Amino acid sequence: MNAVETRILELRTELDQHNYRYHVLDEPSIPDAEYDRLFHELKALEEQHPELVTSDSPTQRVGSVALSAFSQVRHEIPMLSLGNAFDETTMREFDRRVTEGLDLPMGDLLGGGAAVEYSCEPKLDGLAVSLLYQDGMLVRGATRGDGTTGEDISVNVRTVRNIPLKLQGSGWPPLLEVRGEVYMSKAGFERLNATQLEAGGKTFANPRNAAAGSLRQLDSRITANRPLEFCCYGIGQVTSDIADTHIGNLKQLKAWGMPISRELKLAHGIDECLDYYRDIGERRDSLPYEIDGVVFKVNSIASQRELGFRAREPRWAIAHKFPASEELTELLDVEFQVGRTGAVTPVARLKPVKVAGVTVANATLHNMDEVARLGLMIGDTVIIRRAGDVIPQVVQVVTERRPDNARPVEVPQQCPVCGSHVERTQLIKRSKGRETVSEGAVYRCVGRLACGAQLKQAIIHFVSRRAMDIEGLGEKSVEQLVDEGLVGSPADLYALTFEQVVDLEGFAELSSRNLLAAIVDSKKPSLARFIYALGIPDVGEETAKVLARSLGSLERVQAALPHVLTYLPDVGLEVAHEIHSFFEDPHNRQVIKDLLRHGLQIQDQGELSAEFSASTTLGGFLDKLHIPSVGPGGAQKLADKFGSLEAVMDADWLDMRQALPEKQANAVREFFAIAANREQALAAEQQLRDFGMHWQSEKKVVEGLPEAGHTWVLTGSLELMSRDVAKDKLESLGAKVAGSVSAKTHCVVAGPGAGSKLTKANELGLKVLDEQAFVEFLTGHGVAL
Ligand code: NAD
Repeated sequence: MNAVETRILELRTELDQHNYRYHVLDEPSIPDAEYDRLFHELKALEEQHPELVTSDSPTQRVGSVALSAFSQVRHEIPMLSLGNAFDETTMREFDRRVTEGLDLPMGDLLGGGAAVEYSCEPKLDGLAVSLLYQDGMLVRGATRGDGTTGEDISVNVRTVRNIPLKLQGSGWPPLLEVRGEVYMSKAGFERLNATQLEAGGKTFANPRNAAAGSLRQLDSRITANRPLEFCCYGIGQVTSDIADTHIGNLKQLKAWGMPISRELKLAHGIDECLDYYRDIGERRDSLPYEIDGVVFKVNSIASQRELGFRAREPRWAIAHKFPASEELTELLDVEFQVGRTGAVTPVARLKPVKVAGVTVANATLHNMDEVARLGLMIGDTVIIRRAGDVIPQVVQVVTERRPDNARPVEVPQQCPVCGSHVERTQLIKRSKGRETVSEGAVYRCVGRLACGAQLKQAIIHFVSRRAMDIEGLGEKSVEQLVDEGLVGSPADLYALTFEQVVDLEGFAELSSRNLLAAIVDSKKPSLARFIYALGIPDVGEETAKVLARSLGSLERVQAALPHVLTYLPDVGLEVAHEIHSFFEDPHNRQVIKDLLRHGLQIQDQGELSAEFSASTTLGGFLDKLHIPSVGPGGAQKLADKFGSLEAVMDADWLDMRQALPEKQANAVREFFAIAANREQALAAEQQLRDFGMHWQSEKKVVEGLPEAGHTWVLTGSLELMSRDVAKDKLESLGAKVAGSVSAKTHCVVAGPGAGSKLTKANELGLKVLDEQAFVEFLTGHGVAL
């Protein structure tokens, strides 16, 4: 065997494997661009040595064998592939072949040739599907398979929302095979991957794999849950012709209810095709689905028939492909960058490669969980993807190509910038009323502002337009200020002198004065801007605004406990902890003090917002404690029954059972039996009171009633009225009726049979009334029995 023969065999074996992985397993291991290169290499060799072409060569066949798990379907008219072009020259050659094939005048440099009419459609990146309609009813759905034999996926295609199960209107041929692409929109793909990731399932490298993997499911319930869509681009078997052009066919199918491309257009001649290609290319990123090129087809059906087919593709159509959005390259190293909040992020250093027209040398790896998910090692061959404006991503490792000397990716123990310790962040989750702490995906340098990288980023953020808006201080100048030791915290900016600034690179007299003026001008920020400028992890502009608006003062924001912060709209427990621990940190406190010392005056500070006060009801508060099995309804019942947090905590079993069913009542008691839960709840309640708030239920009664602010307790049995009636009467005087006795209790009404509550009241020396005295008290206040 000579070298060419050997190479041809090698290429065929390799392409066959890739075809199988791509078409059958929906798990390609190399990007399409790499496949296309191998394919073209084989095609070129076979063109030079036609005697070596065999009928089983991948250049002569389509797709791959159908998966035997599905039953098989024979395509009466084969489902072919398309020839492809990557440049204008190949496109013009295609047009020339078509013109020649149809015996039309060729024209010369000055034009004058016949302009063939082409239909233009985007080339959707999904998978080809055949839908068979008998008397207007969908009877079968099939994949392309190897072009002759596909898989029966009838059940699955029925779950695709925009595939009509029955054709609309009338006049359709008794037998009609519709062909088109099943694909997944970009948004659907993002959503699917997010849910898969959350559920610990498999994520997909791109929308095509996701669409193929979703449609070829043995369990159609899975398919039904996937955001698949269909777009029709042609017909197969049909009992009678529909129209005499391709576009005519598609328009008629649309009238029968078939989705077709909104981008379908007619082009007169090749130049208009090229215009269409450029136009769609410019709009590619803003289309809601991924396309890998455009497809041009000779519009006249008669001309299509005249031109006919080659081995695996029609002579009357071509796919003009876009530059690939996925490419192969080598991972040279993984470096760690330190961000503003100290997060130590892995960044891939790549052997530069062109992806979708742009050279890519770096790609973010997000965090170590992502590195583990990818199974990435240094030295690996990886697939880089750059779709739209999205930053380049490493989507997959080509494990077959892993070199022997590949190294694992390791997080540095010390910060690469300042040498401080690097620690793994913790993830605080709350489930069933308990906070659980687990290891987070993020590693952080603990150096804070002592770390040059964090300090620089913190200052760049602090001066940015949406933060303190100090104009004239670019990144380079910040780096210089930090490197020369002139600025060690944001507060130091306010101590800069003219001499120091004018010495910086790029600063002259005027620009120095302007910068100093801008620094002075920034001294009166709004509270929201100031909070945002501090750069608290996870606190963006919106959260900063919410904090400022709701709590009204820096003092309250600084003091707020995590449980109080969770009251704010969109603040979850994790963010609440970040905010709280930021302000607990002595270094951060010092920076804030220094800023104020330099004359920073925070504007618009005031009261708690009415909205915030109104949102704090006892029911809501109890709900936010997330007591297991107690939902908002149960929490409200507790609030209604007991009226105060203390009373809920101290309630005895019988009282509790009056408010809630057994399981929930137990849960509440168990929850408050844990000292830490009690303390946290009491501290949060106390803080709300310190902030000047009352529970809504209290507020109603505060105004002017004789017993406002007094807590009463009813115990023992009453003979002249029920306990509920007694409670109503007390509440009508503004009193609060609680279920347990404490030092704060104003008065206890004790009927016969009173037990521990009465004892406790006596121990505490509280005022105790028997029923008779209680009735006198009520009538004395004008309350009728
Ligand atoms: P193709 O995908 O390049 O083109 C043909 C297909 O285009 C049709 O079957 C149809 O599904 C689709 N299509 C989309 N819009 C269309 C429209 N408007 N009109 C007609 N058809 C339209 O060819 P192919 O034979 O399906 O697959 C070959 C390609 O698949 C290769 O070029 C390669 O990019 C990729 N592939 C990749 C691997 C891998 O390992 N990465 C393996 C095999 C194939």
